[in-house]
This record gives sequence, C-alpha cells and structure tokens, in this order.
Amino acid sequence: MFWQRLRKDSELAIITAFAGCAFFGIVPFAVYRFATGNSLAGFVDLSIAGSICLAVWHAWRSGDRRRASLLLAIINTVGCLASATVLGPPGLYWMYPALLGNFLLLGRNTASLVTAFALLFLTIQGKAYDTRMQLAMFLVSATVASLIAYVFALRNQTQRDELRLLATLDPLTGLRNRRAMEAELEIAVVRHHREGQLFGLAMLDLDHFKRINDQHGHEAGDNVLVDFAKLLLQHSRKADRCYRFGGEEFVLLLPIPSEQALAEIDYSLRLRVEQELHANGDPVTVSIGAAVLRHGESWSDWLGRADAALYRAKDEGRNCTVVDTGGERAAV
Ligand code: GH3
Ligand code: MG
Ligand code: MG
Repeated sequence: MFWQRLRKDSELAIITAFAGCAFFGIVPFAVYRFATGNSLAGFVDLSIAGSICLAVWHAWRSGDRRRASLLLAIINTVGCLASATVLGPPGLYWMYPALLGNFLLLGRNTASLVTAFALLFLTIQGKAYDTRMQLAMFLVSATVASLIAYVFALRNQTQRDELRLLATLDPLTGLRNRRAMEAELEIAVVRHHREGQLFGLAMLDLDHFKRINDQHGHEAGDNVLVDFAKLLLQHSRKADRCYRFGGEEFVLLLPIPSEQALAEIDYSLRLRVEQELHANGDPVTVSIGAAVLRHGESWSDWLGRADAALYRAKDEGRNCTVVDTGGERAAV
C-alpha cells in the first residue's frame, strides 16, 4: 500500500523523499546540540523535524499535496532562517538545500519569491555573517544555486507539458487520440448543459480498409490514413475537433447551429472523400454515422448512438451517411 501509493503519486513521493532526507539530516544535529548544551539550537532543530513530520502526515492523510508542499517549504525556509540567526554563519549552510528544495516543492515563480525573501531577510537581520565580504559571497552563491534550480524546474515543466501533449496525440496521423476525445466529449456535454450549445458527433469508418491493406500493402494503408486525417482537418472549421478513434475509425466533434447543419457537413465530407481520397490511384470511400447531443445525455450514450448510425450506414451499402435524429434516422 505504502510503496504502491508512492509509485503512483509522484508529488507525494517528492514530498516524502524530501521530508525523509530533511528529517534524518536534522535529527542528529538536534541530539548533538542538546548534548553540547546548546538547547536553543537543539530546540529549533527538533521543531523543524517535528513540523516536517506533521506536513508529511497531512499529505498522506488528506491527499492535499499542494498544501503540504507549501507547508514544507515554509518550515524549510523559516527553520533555516531561525537556524542562521541562532548559529550565525555556520547555520547558512542549511540555506542551500532549503532553497533548492523549495524549487522542488513549489512552482518556480513562488520558489523564486521565497528565495528573494530569505536572502533579503538574512541581509537586513545581520546576524548570519561576520563581514560584508562573507555576506556578498553567500548572496552570490545562493543566487547562482537558485538560478540553476530555476532552469531545472523550467526544463522539467517544459518536458512534462510535451509529454502530456504527446499522450493525447495519435503518432501516425497527428490527430488527437481517443483519450483526448473522451475528455473533450465530457466538456461538450457540460457546455451543452450550461450554455445550450448544440453539438454533433460523427463516427467515420473507411470502407473495406482491410481490402486496401491486402491489395496495396500496409504502408499504403498507413498513407491513406494520413491523407484522410489531412482531409478531415482541411474540411474542419476552427472549433471542430478531429480524433483518431482507433484503426481506420475517426470521430468528429462539431459545434453546430442546427441539426440540419450536421447532416450537411457530413454529406459534403463524404462526397469530398469519395472524390479526393485514393490508395495508389484506387478511390477510397467512408461511411459516417452521426448524432446530435441530446439534453441530459452522457457522452458515452451519445457516442453509442453515432456508432449505431454508423452500423446502419454500413448496412445501407457503405459510402453513406446516417444521422440519428431520435425516432427516425435519415440516410443521405
Ligand atoms: P468495413 O467497410 O466494414 O469497415 O470493412 P473494413 O475492412 O474497413 O473493416 P475491418 O474492421 O474488417 O478492418 C479494418 C482494417 O483496418 C483491419 C486492420 O488491419 C486495418 N488497420 C487498423 N489500423 C491500421 C493501421 O494503423 N494501419 C493500417 N495500414 N491498417 C490498419
Ligand atoms: Mg472499423
Ligand atoms: Mg472500415
């Protein structure tokens, strides 16, 4: 359970690892301070270690990693400032891991603000250094360390954003994938409920695609899928969304002014595919099943109706569009 949660929740893992390092790094010093009679410094160290335990306990119990991270960063910074005040210059060594840790726990801009505050506090308070030269060296080295941490945090965020984007794209066609589709259908359902915006959904399935693969080869089949995706994008308006549902099946999500518009868009798309899509010179056609989102309907039921309409289009002989209009279905 413990390891499973750590493996699944990277933020919780960071909090726990950071707190573990800080706790086991600080406690021996607390013992040493008490043993050598510096009870004030020992008390500061023990308070920091205790507060760290509380923050981690809060993260594990409530799952509120954001607040726990903020709490840890505050404990870190305030504890180190207190330590530098009580111990003088040797206490400054703790500032380095504390400042770097803040970039791990907080957003890079908040961490920069906390760093600026800590450095300003130490400069004004004047107890953590003996000479101005010592202060200048500390300020420059701490700023350089923080800048490096900032660059790491920025790079980390950029890579994370890229990974998130990649996870929503189909590698062959570059269209959004099924995972992205599910999230965006959910949003469309909410928008319909709140704003009354009409949405149409079209499921598109290339006809006899297996035959295309068999006759022209898998690579030619892939090229047809890529060309079809391009055609979909060319045919789409700015607010439309195209997805590769899987294999040779695609989905279009269309904000529409009326039910009639959905049938017209799908009809003209089907004609365009018939005229423009080819596999090594042979024409390729598509069957389309479409449905307008009903009030109170879930996205999966909506998709199910479009899928049922697609089956009907296949039954009608393929290269055909069927729009589910509630009671009756219109084939065009
Ligand atoms: P129907 O008109 O009834 O839709 O017939 P179909 O042959 O298109 O449908 P079926 O489901 O029998 O076959 C789909 C084929 O699509 C089988 C599979 O090999 C092929 N396929 C799925 N994904 C890819 C892909 O990424 N690249 C290629 N080249 N072929 C694919
Ligand atoms: Mg299919
Ligand atoms: Mg097919």
